[in-house]
This record gives sequence, C-alpha cells and structure tokens, in this order.
Amino acid sequence: MAIVQNIFRLLAKKQLTHDVFELKFTSEEALAPKPGQYIMFQLPSGLKRAYSIAFHEGNVFTFIIKQMSYESAGSREICDFPIGQEVFGMGPIWHFVLTDGDVPRLFIGTGTGFAPLYFQIRTLEARGFDSKTEFLFGVRKTEDMFYQDEFTRLSQSGKEFSFMQYLSQDESETTEKGYVTDKLTQDYVASFQEFYICGSPVMVRSVRDMLAGFGIPKESIKFEQY
Ligand SMILES: Cc1cc2nc3c(=O)[nH]c(=O)nc-3n(C[C@H](O)[C@H](O)[C@H](O)COP(=O)(O)OP(=O)(O)OC[C@H]3O[C@@H](n4cnc5c(N)ncnc54)[C@H](O)[C@@H]3O)c2cc1C
Repeated sequence: MAIVQNIFRLLAKKQLTHDVFELKFTSEEALAPKPGQYIMFQLPSGLKRAYSIAFHEGNVFTFIIKQMSYESAGSREICDFPIGQEVFGMGPIWHFVLTDGDVPRLFIGTGTGFAPLYFQIRTLEARGFDSKTEFLFGVRKTEDMFYQDEFTRLSQSGKEFSFMQYLSQDESETTEKGYVTDKLTQDYVASFQEFYICGSPVMVRSVRDMLAGFGIPKESIKFEQY
C-alpha cells in the first residue's frame, strides 16, 4: 500500500495507566495497513513523531502511547489532544510486518512496544490462530499493566494462544516476576519459527543476542525498537 498523507481526527481517548493512553483516530483516507506498520504524525507544534498502529477497524485507528510528562514532549502533546482534534499523519510505513505463513510464532514486547505486536496478534486471531502463538510481555509494576481483560479473552479462546505477563519490580498471582528474557532457553525457542520483538533498545538487543546464541537465523527475527 502506498504511503498516504492523510488527516486523522481524534475520536476517543482512554487512560490505560498513569502514563499510557489509548487514542482512537478516524482516518480521512481509506488505508489498509499491514500488521506492524506505523503512522508518522506531524503534530501542531511541528514535531514529527511515529506511532505504531495497535489496531484498526475500517477507518478507525487505535494507538497506544506513553505520555512523557515534560512540556515539550510530542507524546504529551498528542495525548493532550481534545476530542475532534485533527492532525496530519503519513503512512502506513515500514517493514516490521507479520508474514502470511502458518508457522509457530513468539512475540516479545515491553512497554508501548506492545502496540504493533497487538495488531499482529489480533490479525493471527482473525486467521484462527492456526499455529502456536505466544506473547511474552513485560512492564515494571502492576500499575503499568493494561489490556489484561483482552489477554484473558484471547488466552481462553481455546485456540493456540498463550500470554505471559512479566513484571520486573512487582509480584502478583497472575504474573511472572522478572524480565521477558528469563523465559528464553534453547529448548523453549526451538519450538518457534518466527520471532517478533518490540520495545526498548536494550531489551531488543538482548533478545536478539540470545536468539542468535541459540542459533536462530537472522531472517526469522523481526524487530522494532523505540
Ligand atoms: C517506528 C516507531 C514506532 C513507535 N511507536 C510508538 C508507540 O506505538 N507508542 C509510543 O508510546 N511510542 C512509540 N514510538 C516512540 C515515539 O515515536 C516517540 O519517540 C516517543 O513518544 C517520545 O517522543 P516525545 O516527543 O514524547 O519525547 P522526546 O522529546 O523525543 O524525548 C525522548 C527522550 O528524551 C528524554 N527527554 C527529552 N527532553 C526531556 C526533558 N525535558 N525532561 C526529561 N526527559 C527528557 C526523555 O527521557 C525521552 O525518553 C515509536 C517510535 C518509532 C520509531
């Protein structure tokens, strides 16, 4: 799909945690993004900021954005938009996209690296989760968790999907204490054929190094970092 310069209008906003917002925009143009792509917004201040498409239904696009608190932050500006605000966005862009094949896949994410992975997982849900699909997702504390009901729903769908929530600084009955990398062993990763990683550069680097150490070919690993 060609990259389109487009007007997005804020339709709805929901605060998911103390600093993460779900924003739904309508798009003026009909777009057909691939799961994993992003939109480059040109904010009214002039800042350009990229945000991954977390989901879309028709012309309604969902984004999950962590709001930085300081005055000049682009994320603060977009999360403070009033309903109805219009903004230019260019896209959909980039190569971090889900393949078409029916293969076992492991998704690994932290923080708002969740967004493109969620779009990819929902696409696999629509395809019927034909192959094993697992998602290891990490945040720091209980207060940083979001979309839990959604992952309970997907996990209980009876399909080949499982979800593990990691908390690096908290414990709870339904979560794992530690980092997403704790799960990665030679035996565990051997049962997957494709790997999708998104989150902080440090996490992405360490997962890629571990997978390379386990002999996973580079072509099987897709990643995005921010
Ligand atoms: C392909 C792609 C997709 C992305 N998708 C998403 C997404 O889905 N969701 C999402 O939340 N983000 C996403 N991002 C990141 C996003 O584009 C921005 O980089 C992010 O929102 C930070 O921009 P900002 O203007 O708020 O912060 P910036 O002003 O760019 O600041 C960046 C960093 O500098 C530091 N900093 C700068 N000035 C100050 C200050 N005055 N005080 C304290 N610290 C300061 C902060 O630590 C901050 O982390 C994506 C990035 C890329 C490249």
